[in-house]
Amino acid sequence: MDANETADRVLVFDTTLRDGEQAPGASMNFGQKLQVARALASLGVDVMEVGFPVASPGDFQAVETIARQVEGPVIALRPDIDAALKALAPAPRHRVHVFLATSPIHREHKLRMTPAEVVRVATGAIEYARERCQDVEFSAEDAARTELDFLTEVVERAIEAGATTINIPDTVGYAMPAQFGGIIRHLREHVRGIDGVVLSVHCHDDLGMAVANSLSALEAGARQVECTINGIGERAGNCSLEEVVMALRTRHDLFGLRTGVRTQQLCSVSRVVAGATGFHVARNKAVVGQNAFAHESGIHQHGMISHAQTYEVMRPEDVGFKSTNLVLGKHSGRHALTARLRDLGYQLEPEQVDKVFEELKRLADKKKEIYDGDLDALLVHLFQNGTSRRWQLASLNAVSGTGTPPSAAVSLLTRDGRKLDEAATGDGPVDAVFKCIERITGVKARLRDYTVENVTAGEDAQGEVVVVVEHEGRTYRGRGLSTDIVLASAEAYLEVVNRIAAGRLQRKTPPEPEPEVVCGAV
Ligand SMILES: [Zn+2]
Repeated sequence: MDANETADRVLVFDTTLRDGEQAPGASMNFGQKLQVARALASLGVDVMEVGFPVASPGDFQAVETIARQVEGPVIALRPDIDAALKALAPAPRHRVHVFLATSPIHREHKLRMTPAEVVRVATGAIEYARERCQDVEFSAEDAARTELDFLTEVVERAIEAGATTINIPDTVGYAMPAQFGGIIRHLREHVRGIDGVVLSVHCHDDLGMAVANSLSALEAGARQVECTINGIGERAGNCSLEEVVMALRTRHDLFGLRTGVRTQQLCSVSRVVAGATGFHVARNKAVVGQNAFAHESGIHQHGMISHAQTYEVMRPEDVGFKSTNLVLGKHSGRHALTARLRDLGYQLEPEQVDKVFEELKRLADKKKEIYDGDLDALLVHLFQNGTSRRWQLASLNAVSGTGTPPSAAVSLLTRDGRKLDEAATGDGPVDAVFKCIERITGVKARLRDYTVENVTAGEDAQGEVVVVVEHEGRTYRGRGLSTDIVLASAEAYLEVVNRIAAGRLQRKTPPEPEPEVVCGAV
């Protein structure tokens, strides 16, 4: 028997690049997706879901590149089945993920199908996929709100049709731990052939139960858990990979289960994903938050010094948490940088390290000490700038003060080298800059959120500006980085405007054919 198939082995199915990326504003570009995929492979996840190949030609290319370059995990993809198989062809091990809603509310209001039709469509898609791929996962979307008898029937028919993994999602985060574990137990007791497939769960966190529900299901016999790094995902997010993995490890006495995850890399992968998506991790986040291992109160500190386990159930080094924040400076060499990047979880090509090194030297002229946070930020912006941009900032002057209205003058450079200028007044210098950019580019977007955050400590710290805007019903997020926050704001807004313009171009290409069985997302 394969070492991965013993009864106590839980398969970790990561969906950061699909469900995680579906979180409003979390979209990643090609370079960022590849970075995350590499970090996940090195973390040791068993299956990695990488997106929808039909979402756009860019997505297709990203999936295909990951399938070709990233070794280790099974690469899974959702249908359109034919497009999925085409994009996945270069991956040595790949899986097609077929899904259809089964709950009464979805059957009646979304699918307008009878129970019998749901069974027919689901089994048809599974059979079609199975004829072309050995590894087929079926998800009964909104399973947690499906009548138990009907769910039992659907799962049995899906297994007969050839599904090799059966996934039971709590799509809307409605279940409670004991009840959800009960569903899994019921299926194991009543579905013919259930022992021949992997039983999986996929829980959302709308009521804060995603990790608890997943653990309850594993206790009841599920052996695959679908999760994301930092718990990102639609709405309140998914089951957090680092939490479920560390719960199984720390309470092995209770669960008796194990995963193949190299837990020492959890913190570094968490940073890579936070950097790529722009979703900062809360300081008090379990396992990977900055304060997860910090102790302020005197009594706690005293206890910690006598014996760490008085107040810690995990060792910081087991999740790769490092209290030391190695500082690089003007005189640090390429070697020190390469080592630090590797420690932080980044796997870069030599020419990418060269670029980071160049940027680092430039930054070291403005700033004495370079912290890990500076490196994270540099990398994010480097990958962003790798994408083709229609407009670039050529120059910027902003004036603010008492007695004069805030104003700005901005010059943008177009891709064909033309320089366009505009000047404006505004409520503040940042507002004036945004107005200039709007006038030059003709892209009008509604600002929904604007935040400035120091990426590291100190008076000369770099500020990272994040802007979130809405444009024609879509949310876009842009980031800018500089020791000057007006400049960082301009970069962030320009990134958003470039994304909107790129999206417009993309949508002008003819629409992809409707996928056969894409009826939502679990
Ligand atoms: Zn989901």
